[in-house]
Amino acid sequence: MKAWTLTAAGGLDHLTLGEVPDAAAPAAGEVRVAVRAAALNHHDLFVVAGLPGIDYAPPKIVGADAAGVVESVGPGVTRVRPGDRVFINPGISCRACEFCRRGEHSLCVRYRILGEHLPGTLAELVTVPEPNVAAIPELPTPLSWAEAAAFSLVTLTAWRMVVTRAQVRAEDWVLVWGIGGGVALTALRIAKSRGATVIATSSSADKLARARALGADHVLNHGTQQVAREVRALTGKRGVDVVVEHVGAKTWEESLRSLAKGGRVVTCGGTSGPRLITDVRPLFWHQHSILGSTMGNDAEYAEVVRRLGAGELRPVMDRVVPFAEARAAYAHLERGEQFGKVAVEIGG
Ligand SMILES: [Zn+2]
Repeated sequence: MKAWTLTAAGGLDHLTLGEVPDAAAPAAGEVRVAVRAAALNHHDLFVVAGLPGIDYAPPKIVGADAAGVVESVGPGVTRVRPGDRVFINPGISCRACEFCRRGEHSLCVRYRILGEHLPGTLAELVTVPEPNVAAIPELPTPLSWAEAAAFSLVTLTAWRMVVTRAQVRAEDWVLVWGIGGGVALTALRIAKSRGATVIATSSSADKLARARALGADHVLNHGTQQVAREVRALTGKRGVDVVVEHVGAKTWEESLRSLAKGGRVVTCGGTSGPRLITDVRPLFWHQHSILGSTMGNDAEYAEVVRRLGAGELRPVMDRVVPFAEARAAYAHLERGEQFGKVAVEIGG
C-alpha cells in the first residue's frame, strides 16, 4: 500500500510518500479500514518534530485521524461489516487496566495514538480495534470523506475539555485562545451550545471575524491587545470562569490572570512550549483549578458521534489536499494559517 512515512524525526523534509507493506490483516476484534481521507492535527507536527519514547523505526506511518470504508474484519467483530462507512477514534486503549474498566479509556496505562505509537492513517489501509471505529451518521447534506476524517480527534478532545473536565454551564464566561485550530473552534461551538458567553482570541482580524460568525460573543486580538486586561474590562473586573488552553508557554500566565474566583483552566497541550509558570498565591487564594485533558473515553466518543448525527459539531474545514501533497498540508498547519481542519484525500 501507499503511505506517508517519517524516515527520521526532526522536520517535514523527512516525510516521504512510498510503498510499504499493507496494514496487518485484522486479528480477532480488529477492523481494517480502506482510508478515504485523513486529517492533520497539531499532534502530527509534534510527531514529526520528535517525541521522547517514540519508536521511529521504519516504516513509521504518520497520521491519527481518518475515515474510510471497512475493508475486512477479524473474528468476533459484530458492530461493523465490510463496506460500512466509518470514522476512526485514534486513541487506542487496552480495555483491561483499572482506568479502562472504570470507563476512562484515555487514562489507559497503555494508551496509544495512531501515528505516534502505532501505524498511522496517512495510508491506504489502517487496522484498529473494533471499538475505535464508528459508523458515519447520515446527514441531509452528507459529510464528505474529508469532513468525516476531521471529526474525531478534535471533537472528542474539545468535548472532554469543555463538558467533562471544565463542566461549562450557561452562566459561565469562557475564554478560548487561538481560534482557527480545530480544538479551539470546536470548544467555541460546544461552549456556545451550552449557553456560555465566549471570548475568542486570535492574532488575525480575519479569523476573529469568522469566530464571531461561529458564535463568539467577544473577540480579542492577542497580537495587539493584553488579553487578561481586556477580559477584566469585558467582565466588569470579574474574569472568566473557564479558559480553554492549548498554547502553553506563551499564554499560560495570561490565562491564569484572566480567571474569576473559583475559575478553572483546562489544557490539552502546549503548542508554544511545555514549561509553564504558575504563581501559587492567586492559585490558592482565588481557588482556581488547573485541569488536564486528553482525548476522551468511549461514552464521550459515542456522545459526540450522536450529536454529529443530530446536526451539531460538523467540522469546520480549511482545505482538502490530494494524497501526494500531504507534506504541503503539514507545512500549512505549521505556519498556523488555517481556519479549521486540513485534510488529505486518499484512495477511492
Ligand atoms: Zn487500559
